[in-house]
Amino acid sequence: MDDWARGMPPFEVLVSTLLSQSTTVANERRGMDGLRDAFGAITPEKLACRRTAEIELAVYHAGLSRQKAPRIRAVADRLSGMRSPRWEAILRRPTTEARAFLTSLPGVGPKTADVVLAMAGRHPVFPIDTHVARIASRWRLAPKPDYESVRAALERWTPPEKRKAWHLAIIAHGGTLCRARNPRCAECPVARDCDWFRARRRKRPAQRLKTADR
Ligand code: SF4
Repeated sequence: MDDWARGMPPFEVLVSTLLSQSTTVANERRGMDGLRDAFGAITPEKLACRRTAEIELAVYHAGLSRQKAPRIRAVADRLSGMRSPRWEAILRRPTTEARAFLTSLPGVGPKTADVVLAMAGRHPVFPIDTHVARIASRWRLAPKPDYESVRAALERWTPPEKRKAWHLAIIAHGGTLCRARNPRCAECPVARDCDWFRARRRKRPAQRLKTADR
């Protein structure tokens, strides 16, 4: 499992998550490298004194730089202005309080907040990214597909100390075998327990019969 946030300060985890929207891991990392190359370090203070256009250029390779750069600049602005308590101290508060603070930041929604809470704040939350949402749907883990329903369901299914590990494991599974298109079910070690796979297997003989009748 790739604990991609190991050793990263919380602000880098936050910026990395903002950059990861609608792009690949490789391009998100190119965006982070672009920021480091351009400004020396990724801190609220370094980014808050830059023009949005400079940030946009630095994160160009992460895609959607016109949307992402103003968000990053606005978050940096807000966090660099905080003196007491510093925002890292708020991350150590109870989960509900820390989440409320993060989602009050410009451009930070529940998913981004949960990633920061889990990866940088050691909070026992289960962030739901696109891989996790897809697999939760294929495994029929949640009664409804909206973010909060899926998160609540996965948090019910997993003990607090395992949530981060499961989040990372499911992302890895979604990136290798359980892909959105053409999942590699024949190689999947959990195929026997997968609702989606079993449902497809039940349908196939019927489809073959229909074809034979024509
Ligand atoms: S059997 Fe297929 S759909 Fe089910 S978890 Fe495995 S790869 Fe995903």
